[in-house]
Amino acid sequence: MDLERLEALLGDIGAPPFRASQVWRWMARGASSYAEMTNLPAALRARLDAELPLSTLAVEAEATARDGTEKALFATADGKPVEAVLMRYRDGRRSLCLSSQSGCPLTCTFCATGRMRFGRNLTASEILDQALHFRRIEPVDHAVFMGMGEPMLNLDAVLAACERLPDVGISHRRTAISTVGWLPGIERLIEHGPPVRLALSLHAADDALRSELMPVNERYPLTDVLAACREWSAARRQPVFVEYLMLDGVNDRYQQAVALADALEPHAAFKVNLIPYNPTESGLRGSTRAAIQAFRDALEERGVRATVRLTRGREIEAACGQLAARTGPPAAAGSVATAGPTSALASG
Ligand code: SAH
Repeated sequence: MDLERLEALLGDIGAPPFRASQVWRWMARGASSYAEMTNLPAALRARLDAELPLSTLAVEAEATARDGTEKALFATADGKPVEAVLMRYRDGRRSLCLSSQSGCPLTCTFCATGRMRFGRNLTASEILDQALHFRRIEPVDHAVFMGMGEPMLNLDAVLAACERLPDVGISHRRTAISTVGWLPGIERLIEHGPPVRLALSLHAADDALRSELMPVNERYPLTDVLAACREWSAARRQPVFVEYLMLDGVNDRYQQAVALADALEPHAAFKVNLIPYNPTESGLRGSTRAAIQAFRDALEERGVRATVRLTRGREIEAACGQLAARTGPPAAAGSVATAGPTSALASG
């Protein structure tokens, strides 16, 4: 829902301003038509129905993996592709992976999104509409900005969306913004913004290797980024989640675990999430399970809290780093449904 257009339209019609919050509350609770909004006058509902689409995003394709992970490919009104993912966990958790940009201007070598053309920043409404799409399917309670794009390059819209996520069922504590280490953004979050969580995509504990994997490291080197993260952690009294992609023979050696543990002092300020590499066209290979386990053990021995991320939705290319807005069916078998107005959800 284009919330700015909603307010402008209500103004034109001469409807009282509280109508905007009434509409929003219905949307946030998963309404899929104006007809459901029974506390609005019928004439107003009809007018809105005729003039304001329920979503700023059109669903282009949907796919569901066997593990219950669901991916949606949307198009903005100007035709830019956007992807978002719903992860369903056994304990009942429903977590959304949201995009902040169409494509991404950064060029991390391992990530599929970095290889597609950068479109533009998404508006707050376009970010929220990803969440509302899934909210219409079922209640949701967690969100991570780990879809397409770098949230810190579009921080105003990301924070505006975060302000409204609690209405959708996702509290600030259950919202995380993930960054490549875009320093001005981290600095801004130290002082301002809602108490959402912070995640840092680190992937290497030395500048030379990190710059090779993530060219943005040339601009904002490790020491500065980690210093800002420590400050954020101290100010917010929360650990920063460190994402560390496990790449075979690249960053998964014992000495690199030791270097990582040293870089992450004080250990209370960080929590490491080791990420099994999801295949893309990068030519890189993921570490073996044994290597990931050994790396984790080396970190824990040194007092660094570390977990291994569960991989979800790989067969539909919905996993970390695989979002690249391909409309065709993925190489591996998943069930893909092209969404028409009545399309049933594909089931894995
Ligand atoms: N630009 C932000 C938000 C995207 S988060 C950031 O980089 O933090 C997406 C996460 O998935 C990042 O941690 C990214 O490094 C990771 N990722 C990228 N490609 C991946 C791949 N092929 N397999 C697993 N994780 C990947």
